[in-house]
Amino acid sequence: MFGAVEAGGTKFICAVGPSPDKLLAKVSFPTTSPQETLAKVNEFFLQQIEENGALRAIGLGSFGPINISRQSADFGKLAATPKKGWAGFDIVKAISKTVNTDVALETDVNCALLGEAAFGSGKGVEDLAYITIGTGIGGGLMNKGRLIQGYSHPEIGHMLAVRHPDDQDFPGICAFHGGQCFEGLASGPAIEKRWACKAVELDKNHKAWKIQGYYIAALCMNLLLSVTPKRIILGGGVMNQRQLFPIIREELTSLLAGYIDLASNNLNLQEVIVPAGLDGEGALQGAILLAKQYVDENVSHQQSG
Ligand code: ADP
Ligand code: ZN
Repeated sequence: MFGAVEAGGTKFICAVGPSPDKLLAKVSFPTTSPQETLAKVNEFFLQQIEENGALRAIGLGSFGPINISRQSADFGKLAATPKKGWAGFDIVKAISKTVNTDVALETDVNCALLGEAAFGSGKGVEDLAYITIGTGIGGGLMNKGRLIQGYSHPEIGHMLAVRHPDDQDFPGICAFHGGQCFEGLASGPAIEKRWACKAVELDKNHKAWKIQGYYIAALCMNLLLSVTPKRIILGGGVMNQRQLFPIIREELTSLLAGYIDLASNNLNLQEVIVPAGLDGEGALQGAILLAKQYVDENVSHQQSG
């Protein structure tokens, strides 16, 4: 049995199961203070262990920014999050100490990417990007089947954005970059502040979606030109607005201005820009995969010396 946690800024979801497609028990609760939230996580796992036996490892997909480098002294600690009380909190230790189980850590979006790559819209493609457009904008990147990590995990939502011509004055909502980054301009809360209504209530033909599609297309363009993914999977609450997909492909074509020869690179934007396939289960499934990989790697390390 493995454990999985999807630690989001809005809610936490925990599950256990022998494999990603068999999630046996699942709970979800709102994200409050670190102490209160982690007490609920630990209570769930301790109860599952009592009922079903020990967990081999727990896969944790967390909101960020978070230190995911095992060699670092700050491994497991959340960094400069605007979420009150969470900056500096060691979420890995908070679980592993109480539940007495190893915790494998990735970002929530990297877990969603692992899930989508194995079972969802990324199946069969080794060069992938996953972007969530929700309360924030975040993304994971995969090259030849491996998650990309350098000094830290990617933070593509905070890349510099160029303003849409009809969106020059909106101040943006990013606590760090105002309206200079994609999260500041195109996350769910940004849409809601700009138009002063719920994103879900905006008419499908509202010009909000044209501006939104432009920003997402610009983000996709930056990824296509830098990391060269063959597919970009778009998830998160805002992407429930399915009219965005044709707008994004159209804006992307226009922004690229013919620079990438799509046909000779076997790229067809219908297949490059796609919705997530796992309907919000991707990160949990990816977290189980992550726990499994962790156990496999550690067991083989121990065997090889
Ligand atoms: P989170 O990012 O917290 O994990 P979501 O991905 O569901 O959660 O994103 C929530 C945000 O997405 C909300 O702030 C809202 O603005 C937006 N959103 C949710 N559902 C829809 C919808 N059907 N249409 C447009 N926007 C939506
Ligand atoms: Zn930002």
